[in-house]
Amino acid sequence: MRNVSKVFSNGTLALQGMSLNVQAGEFISLLGPSGCGKSTALRIIAGLGAPSSGSIDWPSSNINARGLPEGDVGFVFQDPTLMPWATVFDNVYLPLKLRGVAKANAAALIMDNLASVGLADFAKSYPRELSGGMRMRVSIARAMVTRPKLLLMDEPFAALDEITRQKLNDDVVRLWKQHGVTVIFVTHSVFESAYLSTRIVVMRARPGQVYTDMKIEQPAVRDQAYRVSESYRQNCQDVSSALQGAIGAAEIH
Ligand code: ADP
Repeated sequence: MRNVSKVFSNGTLALQGMSLNVQAGEFISLLGPSGCGKSTALRIIAGLGAPSSGSIDWPSSNINARGLPEGDVGFVFQDPTLMPWATVFDNVYLPLKLRGVAKANAAALIMDNLASVGLADFAKSYPRELSGGMRMRVSIARAMVTRPKLLLMDEPFAALDEITRQKLNDDVVRLWKQHGVTVIFVTHSVFESAYLSTRIVVMRARPGQVYTDMKIEQPAVRDQAYRVSESYRQNCQDVSSALQGAIGAAEIH
């Protein structure tokens, strides 16, 4: 993101001069108080809204009509946004179907993706038969089925209970490692961002912009032992202090 500003038609200045340089393979969280422009930034990166000024620059030369690198970006929303009339299998098939891949040719890839989120036995189920956490797993499998280089996630686990959220956090770290995908993850949770990220971009509100940018040292394995470790506690403390600073900066303004 190069010097991106966004003014909505009602005059709201959601982002002002936001620059962000993302390296391949990073797991970045955009963390900040409600209304600081996290979702706006993510949607602009996804091509779901245009910046008022500034630009999104991609390393790829294969840019499509929407200004995105073809096939390289996956998006997971807070709501799983599944088709209720379609099976789990058909929901995950959708992005491949839109690309003209025949179902028979896609089957192995779809089943592989469902297995990677623990849903191999639920291919024939309908969304209404699944729990909230399982629906979110389908949404992640659907986003990953095209093997995107960049995965954008907009507070995907905010509506889930704590235990489910922790399991899904572990799944996302595993998928990130397995596929080498770059992740930009929007959250307002200090604990979630400190667990997941190799880098946390703390944002402030009024105007929405980067307050501070932190590298996070992560152990080789993130598990239950890490959740109760001194190094995780220290990471949470550092991130929490930065977030308090960002909130204070907006209040002074
Ligand atoms: P966050 O994701 O950090 O909670 P958002 O990016 O959703 O913040 O919103 C940033 C600001 O822009 C907020 O003040 C919000 O009310 C405003 N906003 C977001 N979308 C729109 C829109 N479509 N029209 C007008 N204002 C909007």
